[in-house]
Amino acid sequence: MSQTVITEQERALIEHCKSPEIAILRHLDEKLVGQGVLLGCGDADRMIEGFDRHRGILRDKGIPDRIHPILVNGGPANFWQYPPTSVIGAFIIQNIFEGLELKEMDRLINYGHWPCGKAREQGLGLLDVLQSLSIVKRHVKGLDASVEVALYLHIDWLCGRMNTYHVNHPNLLKHLNDLVQKFPSCTKFSIAA
Ligand SMILES: [Zn+2]
Repeated sequence: MSQTVITEQERALIEHCKSPEIAILRHLDEKLVGQGVLLGCGDADRMIEGFDRHRGILRDKGIPDRIHPILVNGGPANFWQYPPTSVIGAFIIQNIFEGLELKEMDRLINYGHWPCGKAREQGLGLLDVLQSLSIVKRHVKGLDASVEVALYLHIDWLCGRMNTYHVNHPNLLKHLNDLVQKFPSCTKFSIAA
């Protein structure tokens, strides 16, 4: 059974990342939401919400609600255990590009969530989940710079309230070292990118 709590340090990290001077987590800007291949965790309780939220925004914008999901336990967080160059990591990456090609899409919706049972099981922290989004983005862009890669983090506050945030990649890279220093319990692997 996964541990389903959010620690005080995790809450503090989320609030810090939302602050204007750090600006890593931003409230979802519906203008930036589009069709695409979605890499996420198959979480029975949370994935459907993220999936439906995206599709609802597309419908509201008058765009066909086409999302092509690639769901594996842990989603992007898998890339710590299975780097993009490993057999399993490469299979996930190959699925992303195959989905983009099959559905004639040019966007990867790179979707992390917290708390994530698979990430917890691996001993990963919230910072590791955030950095895994960056690992995926940089790898995919390295293979094809024309693919748009949007980063998201879904937070279940475990009190009936949930939020989906855009993750600002440049700001994440800029502040990662400081975050590791400030919130050591939120990381197992995070290192300077
Ligand atoms: Zn999960």
